[in-house]
Amino acid sequence: MPPHNRIGHGYDLHRLEPNGDGQPGRPLMLGGVEIQHDRGPIAHSDGDALLHAVTDALLGAIGAPDIGQLFPDNDPRNESQNSVVFLEAAMQRVRDAGFTIGNLDATIICERPKLSPHKDLMRANLAAGLGVAEDQVNIKGKTHEGVDALGRNEAIEVHCVVLLVPDGA
Ligand code: MG
Repeated sequence: MPPHNRIGHGYDLHRLEPNGDGQPGRPLMLGGVEIQHDRGPIAHSDGDALLHAVTDALLGAIGAPDIGQLFPDNDPRNESQNSVVFLEAAMQRVRDAGFTIGNLDATIICERPKLSPHKDLMRANLAAGLGVAEDQVNIKGKTHEGVDALGRNEAIEVHCVVLLVPDGA
């Protein structure tokens, strides 16, 4: 059994573009939840910035290659990919390394839309995808106070930290 807890940090950003008919933005996905919004991410996969940040936090905690190395955006298999696939692959690596999640805390930064109506569902979905209890997962939403590209609703950004504990400890 691995002796020590491990901590990991993940970060992701996607540009946002209008996502109506014939427009470049995808539907806005966060934590596997489709959120109604008039802008969505520019991405090769489904552009779920929350799942990408969580995936990288998990991979980082065990010293594995990052999401861009494991799932390159020039690989046609990742085109429009449901990012739950990336999350589950990272979680399998965590289990294989002998760890389980202690807790996870993520911060989503965007000017719009308001995230509070969606937080419970995102949290439940993320916990289910990770195979942990909802009280081990926390999601916070913040605006960027109108500053820079995030504040102009041109991008969405997510930070995540995760604590891994030895499985069975
Ligand atoms: Mg991403």
